Amino acid sequence: MNSKLVEKKLELKNIAITAMRKLVLDVFLQHKKAFSLADLESILENSDRSTLYRTLKTFEQKGLIHGIRENNTTQYLLCNDACDAENHYDFHLHFYCNQCEKTTCLEDVDFEGLKFPKGFTIQELKFVANGICKECTPKMQ
Ligand SMILES: [Zn+2]
Ligand SMILES: [Zn+2]
Ligand SMILES: [Zn+2]
Repeated sequence: MNSKLVEKKLELKNIAITAMRKLVLDVFLQHKKAFSLADLESILENSDRSTLYRTLKTFEQKGLIHGIRENNTTQYLLCNDACDAENHYDFHLHFYCNQCEKTTCLEDVDFEGLKFPKGFTIQELKFVANGICKECTPKMQ
């Protein structure tokens, strides 16, 4: 674990550093993909489910991760640095791969110019796509 980097990330979001929080954040930083509570439980053996759950909730409240509902479980992904305890700015597309069953955040999709009918105020926008991810697409020779 890059302890310094992990602690810096926690400090950036005003999250008090604990051993458990460092472990959980490290998993997210290393894999850069979505994890559910159950996933984390199996990765971090000897961890207590309710502590893990509280850790995820704290991370979400502080703008470190954002959750998406998928097949009746919540998957969590790292936020970008702009998110904080007040607001999440995760206006990006979530891509679900049908092959490896992993979800990734796609920041590089351009949604500028989206138009909504007059009289509607958007407070949250969710984009979900599914298909075959980069990892699962055979490399062009
Ligand atoms: Zn966020
Ligand atoms: Zn895939
Ligand atoms: Zn995302």
